Amino acid sequence: MECGLQFHRYRRRFRATPRNGADPWRFREGILIRLNAPDGRCAYGEIAPLPAFGTEVLPHAESYLLAFAGRIRREEVEATPEALPCCRFALESAWDDLESRSRFGGGAPAESRALLPVAGLLPGGKDPGVHVDQLLEQGYRTLKWKVGVTSFEVERDWFRAMRERVPKEVVWRLDANGALDVDTVEQWARELEEVAVEFLEQPLPVREVDSLLALAKDLALPLALDESVGTVRLLREWRDRGWPGFFVVKPAISGSPFALERFLMQAGPRVVFSSALETGIGLRHALEIVFSCNEAGRAVGWGTGALFGEDKLSPRFGARLSHSTIASIDPQAIWNQAADEPWGAID
Ligand SMILES: [Mg+2]
Repeated sequence: MECGLQFHRYRRRFRATPRNGADPWRFREGILIRLNAPDGRCAYGEIAPLPAFGTEVLPHAESYLLAFAGRIRREEVEATPEALPCCRFALESAWDDLESRSRFGGGAPAESRALLPVAGLLPGGKDPGVHVDQLLEQGYRTLKWKVGVTSFEVERDWFRAMRERVPKEVVWRLDANGALDVDTVEQWARELEEVAVEFLEQPLPVREVDSLLALAKDLALPLALDESVGTVRLLREWRDRGWPGFFVVKPAISGSPFALERFLMQAGPRVVFSSALETGIGLRHALEIVFSCNEAGRAVGWGTGALFGEDKLSPRFGARLSHSTIASIDPQAIWNQAADEPWGAID
């Protein structure tokens, strides 16, 4: 079968300005694709690159799509180079939809898995105390806080004060986005000896492979990789190195959904799923994988909705993410909405 291939860019303005490495990040840009089957059916996919996580850059994805001149076959989807994991995710997940392999056609998962707890996100670089109360009121019980933004001593004191005000059952995740050094990680490990911390995420930069491995093996504090393992290829590499900690998996940037599911079947319970700041189109495909593979029931990292304004490109949800919210996403409405707001039109 050969399908028509359409695509257009989108650009979403962040309401708050997250950091993207050292730089403030003003817009989330990506590409929506549509496959048109000969019988009139269509399906949608999303390319939402995060180059800091080992993906392609947006212009590279765009020129790859342009080269198809509007027509694509299944063999060509499967031949997508490994260096274009976001293109592969978009094309393969849309094609699976066309062939009715979407899990959303098969009804809801078991009740115990139809409602995912979401991790609440605390901004880094300032005293998080006031935000903690808001998140607890909204029902969040796993809280994630960015560290490595200011000095260890300041962040340690904020964290001590925050913990005292928070119920014991709250689970903590600290995320350094690669901003710490070995000494500071060891200081945090000593500080957190008595604390219910699920893990410290990406403590060192991606390039510090040997130090990451050595720390994960030496410390009692569990570590997680995020920026280091953006794609299935990188996940496999770290598994083969014997990484003993957690893997943060962002399905929307990871490459082939089929290959990701195979990795997840073998990866065991030390997997945490997370947003790539995608629209509802990528979210729907990503969550298909999460609803079927989140065996351990860990909170998922989709507490990111507040980063965007009300641009109707993704559904709103809070401390729980339900299967019905995702199943009710209308990809065509998102496609049309993004087309109505051409990406170049936002200043
Ligand atoms: Mg992270």
